[in-house]
Amino acid sequence: MTTPHVSTVTYPSSLFSLEKDEVFPYERFAYNLLDIAIEALNAKGLPERVIIGFSTANSNVTPWFITASVRCELDSTTHLPIAYHFATPELVPAIVYCYCFSVGSALIDHGPTDVRQRFRSFVDAANAGVREYKQSGLAPAIRACYEQLGLTILAVTEVANSYDLLTKLIAFHEVGHAYGLHLVGSRDLNAVTLKGFELIADLLATTWFYNTIVRNTPDDDEYRTFRGFSSYSESVLTNSLVAQRAQLTLLCLMAFAGAQHNGGRLTLAGGISHPSGYQRYMLQHVHMGTLIESNFSGILSPEQFTALNEDWYQTMSALVEQGMIPIADLQSSLDVREFDTIEAAAISIEEMHIEELLPAVPILKNARELMSSRSNERAGRNRQR
Ligand SMILES: [Zn+2]
Repeated sequence: MTTPHVSTVTYPSSLFSLEKDEVFPYERFAYNLLDIAIEALNAKGLPERVIIGFSTANSNVTPWFITASVRCELDSTTHLPIAYHFATPELVPAIVYCYCFSVGSALIDHGPTDVRQRFRSFVDAANAGVREYKQSGLAPAIRACYEQLGLTILAVTEVANSYDLLTKLIAFHEVGHAYGLHLVGSRDLNAVTLKGFELIADLLATTWFYNTIVRNTPDDDEYRTFRGFSSYSESVLTNSLVAQRAQLTLLCLMAFAGAQHNGGRLTLAGGISHPSGYQRYMLQHVHMGTLIESNFSGILSPEQFTALNEDWYQTMSALVEQGMIPIADLQSSLDVREFDTIEAAAISIEEMHIEELLPAVPILKNARELMSSRSNERAGRNRQR
């Protein structure tokens, strides 16, 4: 691929008064974003000019609120896109890195043991960072988070993988908005359609995440030796487990983001512009499962598929039991109104002809039944316990 465009990453200068591992989360976030954005924009014939910033100076978002955003810059005369601006509040990469150190790496590599306690130490670190940010600014705030956790440069190799997975999921969603053409055009869109766009960006992110983590699993001895796997199916199964757990790890982080707006109480509730976080998660989970099943049914054995489902069930149950995923959000995601958004997403996918999501349209249209059967299954299993 060739392009005449250039991309820009703007780092807060104070970052470079810090150590390498304190800058790493910012560099890695920018890299993951560019890595998918350039390819995606190119595929849609959109300008591959990406501007990434770590500042919310011109918005009303606080510097530690876990979120990311994208907007499209239009040419003033032609009204065609000329650049895509991505941003995350300036303390966010450091907070997500701390989350991966405290919670993410253990959850992805070993499952949901001690999640509650780990989550507590993450919250303490994030709070220490926010306090220091208010007093002294960005660099001392990052240092304060790290010190609270005893997080040093030695942890980079341990944290890098889960941080990479989570920031891919976050970045891919934002790129999904650009790729799904949600940022151009002056159509008057109603709130349900706009919420549906969130689901489309989620599903695109899931497709790309699946491609990166599972589909591209190499079938060669060098890779197997490097990762310590004995067969191709073992490699695919392990990568599928990792992808599935990464989605759950992000779900818990989103509950924390909800708490930042909700007086400290974990929540996945949606709002005016976003659907319920649990509903968003479930769609991504089902989409990922469908991609794995439809592409690897000849590779993974029935026992391996069972192991994948069982790991999901065990992890999910433990997270709910430990209070990481609020039970109220599970129930409210079944509210009939929530499904209007899913139907709106299905309609937009067809109208805008988003090729890679067309196979998901029948599932989206049947989501009402699918989700209620999943939750009945879960309720049934809970009763048996
Ligand atoms: Zn979005």
